[in-house]
Amino acid sequence: MNIALFGGTFDPIHSGHLEAAEAARRKFRLDRILFVPTGHPPHKSTGHLKAFKHRYAMVALACSGRPRFIPSLLEAPSSDGRPSYSVETVRKARRMLRARDQLYFIIGADAFFDLPKWKDYHELLDLANFIVVSRPGFDPKTIGEIVPRDLVQGQTSPRAGRVALRRTTLHILDGMHVPLSSRQIRDAVRRGRWIAGCVAPLVRQYIRKEGLYRPARLSHEE
Ligand code: ATP
Ligand code: MG
Repeated sequence: MNIALFGGTFDPIHSGHLEAAEAARRKFRLDRILFVPTGHPPHKSTGHLKAFKHRYAMVALACSGRPRFIPSLLEAPSSDGRPSYSVETVRKARRMLRARDQLYFIIGADAFFDLPKWKDYHELLDLANFIVVSRPGFDPKTIGEIVPRDLVQGQTSPRAGRVALRRTTLHILDGMHVPLSSRQIRDAVRRGRWIAGCVAPLVRQYIRKEGLYRPARLSHEE
């Protein structure tokens, strides 16, 4: 089986995430995509971050009706508040795979440019094939430049959309230009704007029911 991990804060999960995952699913014939909301992200200020239970619930609702999209608890927050590191998540996922399974790691171009700040990112690139999805504002042609030279094998050109690494392959999934971010959705909800079409209908309903992202006096719970 071809199995992919797609991590994020998903605060909330939106159509950009779903379209990226769907494009990756089609192109790489992925049998399962595990959406992994992060418990304690190491690189994000967590000031505004909604509770894990809400982000996970929205991921689960967005996955409903899509049999290959699986909500995952791989990065459910630990009681000691330790951050979730992707390299550890990928190690955990690999222990659950069979020898013939292929593991992929889906990541947006903006997040990929931050990779050099991630824990053990050389090892991370050794452990899973990467699918880097283009995103408005990030030039996919420069993606190959982030990859450490010592991990690149041979003369593969990043312009071909594929970089052969010493143990894995990095694929560039160009042509995705969904101009959406969770931040825009949080802002829109706060201002009472319409977000239909930007998130799955069940996610919009959940945001409304739980009063998420509203000014404090309107929400049930922060
Ligand atoms: P925020 O505005 O809070 O940072 P976000 O929209 O960037 O939210 P994240 O949860 O930070 O969403 O992203 C999870 C993963 O999805 C990252 O790898 C990110 O690059 C990718 N991603 C998010 N939005 C898009 C998009 N519109 N197109 C392609 N990839 C995306
Ligand atoms: Mg982001």
